[in-house]
Amino acid sequence: MEYGRTFNFNKPHLRYNPLKEEYVLVCANRLKRPWQGGDEKLLDRSEATYDKNCYMCPTNKRANGKINPAYKNVYIFDNDYPALLSENTEDYIEDPKWKEAKNVRGFCRVLCYTPLHNETMGKMKIEDIKLVVDAWQEQINELESVDFIKYVQIFENRGGVGNSNPHPHCQIWAVDFIPDDLTKETNGQKKYFTNNKRCLLCDIVKDELIEIERIVFENESWLILVPFWAVWPYETIVIPKQHISHLSGADNKSKLDLSEALKMLISTYDALFDVIMPLSFGIHYVPKGYDGMHESWHLHIHFNPLLLRSKSVRKFMAGFEMFAVPQRDITAEDAAKKLKEIIENIK
Ligand SMILES: [Zn+2]
Ligand SMILES: [Zn+2]
Ligand SMILES: [Zn+2]
Repeated sequence: MEYGRTFNFNKPHLRYNPLKEEYVLVCANRLKRPWQGGDEKLLDRSEATYDKNCYMCPTNKRANGKINPAYKNVYIFDNDYPALLSENTEDYIEDPKWKEAKNVRGFCRVLCYTPLHNETMGKMKIEDIKLVVDAWQEQINELESVDFIKYVQIFENRGGVGNSNPHPHCQIWAVDFIPDDLTKETNGQKKYFTNNKRCLLCDIVKDELIEIERIVFENESWLILVPFWAVWPYETIVIPKQHISHLSGADNKSKLDLSEALKMLISTYDALFDVIMPLSFGIHYVPKGYDGMHESWHLHIHFNPLLLRSKSVRKFMAGFEMFAVPQRDITAEDAAKKLKEIIENIK
């Protein structure tokens, strides 16, 4: 490795933070993208099922001139302003002391859940949500088959959070590195497995089903709970009751049950403060190539909603949380109780 080689900082790259031993992804190329979300404001559910200015609605023209088909359920396309590029650039900086940066490659796709602009997962039919879950599974399998891809992160920002368009959709970012959060979770689960000879999340499922107080919802295959260590006020984690390390391990019944769980959870969040809940969710599963980890790695979905007390009171991670450790005002048990009360009324 040589130091001082030309490095194009306008291309997507990772920079290493040796203070915290973690990476930051820099995508200066992204500034060109349009921002349809407006300023930080919560979204009211629009009445219109079609918006002529939305680049995700069927038959509309996108930024690159392509026309969306008159799609009927899910629709996937490559992001017109991708944060990541698939081209191979092998620039890097690694100085013998502390400076380290390397180009990254990947793909960014958009997955529209439905042609209906004003739909939400909470109102969709379970069979239609199942088509979304099927598409997640197919996309992960397809993108993981690309040689250089190491992880496929599926996530959604909704309700005006880092979200440039209210049309119901999630994003799929396939990257050529293992993101820090996945490394940490791999290590945490591995350590537990080594010490106990059992899977951590299998144990959590078993224990929480006995304790009950943090459970928000369960069906035959999935459990939704406010994790004991929750950071965001109404944070939840969605876990398969059976040990599944990768989404490809979810069969039809499991996917249908997951679709029901997602519908219940989203509609509960939207009912909590009577507003489309601003939140992010992301799916975590065993990274590609971690073949010896399938026993210790348990698939799960994190839901981090941003509201604290009402539709106008947001939780911020600032001050002590930014510089020391996150802090929360209500206990995980109280949050679970409140979410459970709502879900009981919806059922
Ligand atoms: Zn739309
Ligand atoms: Zn497990
Ligand atoms: Zn996780």
